[in-house]
This record gives sequence, structure tokens and C-alpha cells, in this order.
Amino acid sequence: MHKRNVMKRTSLIPSRGIAALALVLSTALVDAQTRITPPDNTYSPAQDIELGLQAAAQARQQLPVLRDDAVSSYLEDIGRRLVAAIPPDLQHPEFRYTFEPVNVREINAFALPGGPMFVNRGMIEAAKTEGEVAGVMAHELSHVVLRHGTAQASKATKYEIGQVAGAVLGAIIGGGWGQVISQGTQFGLGAAFLRFSREYEQQADLEGAQIMARAGYDPRDMANMFKTIQKQGGSGGPQWLSDHPDPGNRIEYITREAQALRVENPVRDTRGFQQVQAHLKQLPPAPTTEQATRNAKGGRPTGTSGSETRLPGGRVEAPAASFRTYTEGNRFRVSVPSNWRELASGTNSVTFAPDGAHGQSNGQSVFTHGVELGIGRNETHDLQRATEELIDSLASGNPNLSRPPRFERITMGGNRGLRTVLTNQSDTTGGQETIQIATTQMRDGNLLYAIAVAPRDEFGSYRSVFDRVLGSVELMDR
Ligand SMILES: [Zn+2]
Repeated sequence: MHKRNVMKRTSLIPSRGIAALALVLSTALVDAQTRITPPDNTYSPAQDIELGLQAAAQARQQLPVLRDDAVSSYLEDIGRRLVAAIPPDLQHPEFRYTFEPVNVREINAFALPGGPMFVNRGMIEAAKTEGEVAGVMAHELSHVVLRHGTAQASKATKYEIGQVAGAVLGAIIGGGWGQVISQGTQFGLGAAFLRFSREYEQQADLEGAQIMARAGYDPRDMANMFKTIQKQGGSGGPQWLSDHPDPGNRIEYITREAQALRVENPVRDTRGFQQVQAHLKQLPPAPTTEQATRNAKGGRPTGTSGSETRLPGGRVEAPAASFRTYTEGNRFRVSVPSNWRELASGTNSVTFAPDGAHGQSNGQSVFTHGVELGIGRNETHDLQRATEELIDSLASGNPNLSRPPRFERITMGGNRGLRTVLTNQSDTTGGQETIQIATTQMRDGNLLYAIAVAPRDEFGSYRSVFDRVLGSVELMDR
């Protein structure tokens, strides 16, 4: 309504020029909804989808998804209504939005790049109205449409996409869940991207408020739910708030935004909400996330279904004297012992390891002997700094990783390179391992890295093999 008055005034004073226009614009901004611009992002929307699907698969292994039609279809209904209200300029038709209830007690929810969303049963139980459930879902959905997960990852030095999947998941789930899941990644990059920035939080609050209004919900219900979450106790406070920190004055600016918005076709029917709450009361109480994930975490190789953990085990064959050459796309060529297998890995890296030395931990590839080669984004154009960033991201998930005493200059692929040797206590086996990291810069500035791993007491005998692997590296970008 205010907007219409402003427009009238504009048409009355067209000849006043710039000064008048500026005045009119600033008046209009007071009452208009806030314009949200998605942050810079070096990933493609297709990569959002790929990362989200990988992370969602991990989440389903770790968390007890509630298989209950009444609850699933209720969430799905709210979710569809919100998705239909995404403004046209933020729609990604290729994203696939899914909404799954998780049978745990805490008030929490998270959404993954490209669309998968998980909502805790505790959230639905704690809400006082459907609008409150919709409020948190609209906030989460806004992180997805603004592509905050990958925007956050874009800021950090990027390495292998599979590792980033765990890291993004860590970023979105944070805290307890993030740790559980990032432990599954080979080096546990989780902490590198653990939380959204306050700027992204404010964007998700405001975009979420706008989506709510278009979907027929009162945006103030989002603020109400945040108050409910704030009151939630537990050690370390509510998980949702540590993953989605209050940028400051959250309740106030959501309320102010709500005043600039008109709720379209308000949702007045409360029966669905009452029915789902009554239904949940009849189910056995939900466990805590810790109780629920403890089982998944202890999922050692028991052969039971649902656990994708198969730790390396058995006899590790000594490296063959003959070598076999692999060509990775048009990026590089490398030779490795002919009895090492090329293991499934992400789009930007490849791992070679002998039988008995590789396995899966929580759906991620792990190895105790062998070499991983990969290409990491490097924006610093400084080899030592990029290498230090690589080591930092490894160290963030591995508190026992030693720091490099020094870097040794080497030649790798005919290029200037660096090498350093670190020690670590393996997450997977608990044993001491030695990790040799060698890096060089590709012509496009990106980092080519080789991470060679062997148990500490065997590293001496592997050293010459690693040297031969490194010596065989050929860059194909020139
Ligand atoms: Zn958030």
C-alpha cells in the first residue's frame, strides 16, 4: 500500500531528476521487502545436486529416517507449498527437493545443496503451529536456493569433491552430526566449513520470510520458532542455533520484514498439524541424536545391512616391482605398482592402493597404504601457501596430524614442487601413520597433490615406491 503512494508521487514529480528519484527510492526501500542476492559461488548448480545427493546418502546411513507415511506426507505438503513460493529468479528447476523426517528428539533440521531436507521429529513436536514448522523449513530451503553450502565451500581452498561432500554436510549439520559424518571422510575435512556465516543466516531469514508469506504463512512464526529453539536446553545449547548463529537482532529484523510482506492466501486449516502432533504422541519417544548416531558410528564391519563401513583389513601385498600407467582425463599421467587398484573416488581425485589396504568407512573410501592424487583449486597462486592450506584442511579433521617441520623442494611433473612428511594417528585403524604430501602447480594455477600414506613402521620400505610414483607424474596441461 505504501508502495502505491510512492509511485503516485513519482509520477507527479518526474522532472525533478536525480535528487527526487533518489529520495523516492529510499522511501520505497523502507517499506519494500529486502532484495537478496545469492553470494558468489564457484560451483555449478549441477555440483550442488551431486554434493547434496552424496551427503544425503551419508545422512540416511547415519540418522534414523522416520518411515511413517503420516509424518512424511505432512512434511512433504508443507515443503511443496514452500517450494512453489520460491521467487522465479531463485528457482533451479533441476534441483530435487525432498523432505524427510528424522526420528530424533532435538529441535533441528538441515538442508543439503540441491534440495534434500531433513527435519527432526523433535522440531514438529516442539512447534506450536504449522507456521512454526514452516518457518524453520523456509529458512533451510532458503539456504538451498541461495546455494549457501557451496558458496561457503567456494571460500575455502577446494579439494576432492567427495571430501567436500562430507565437509558440506558437516557445514550444514554441524556439531554432533557433522563430526560423526565427517569422521567418515578420509581426512575429515568437516571443521573447515563448519558453519554458515552470519551474513548467510540473515539472508536465509529474510528470504525465508518472503517465501513464507508467498506460501500463505505468517513470517512472524519463523521468529516464534526461533524463540522456542532458544529456550531449548541441552549441553552446549541448541544445535540448530550453533549451526545457524543469530546474526544479531534476528527477531527484530524478521518482524520488520514481516511488516513489509503480505501473506497470500493464508493457511488457516490447522487440522493437519493437530493430527500429526497427536500421531507423534502415540509413537515410542524419539531417541536423542547421540543415542541414534552411536549405533551408526559403531557400525563396524558386521555384515549387517545399512552399514557401509568395511575397514581395510587382511594381508597387504607388497608393492609389485612392475608398474602400470594411468591417464587421468587430460590432466595428468601417473604410474603405480601393477598390484595397486584404482579406487572409486571423487571427480577431482583418484586413489591407488593394494588389496587389504582399502575399504569404506561410513560410505567414504579410506586407505592405509597407497597414494591419492588430486587437483585442488588454488586461488593463491603461491605453491607453499596452497600446500599449507591443503595441510590445514587435513589437520582440521585430524588433531593428531603433525605440522610440517619443513618443505623440501622437489621436481614433480617437470615442475617446481614441494614435499613434506607428516605423522598422524589414523582415525580408521588407530595406528600411527606417515603421510607424505607432494604438490606442484598446474598451468591453470590449480594444485596437483599426491598424498602417500603408509603405517609409520612400514614407511621406510614404501619410500622408494612413493618416489617412483612421484617421479612418474606427467602433467598433460601443456
Ligand atoms: Zn541458517
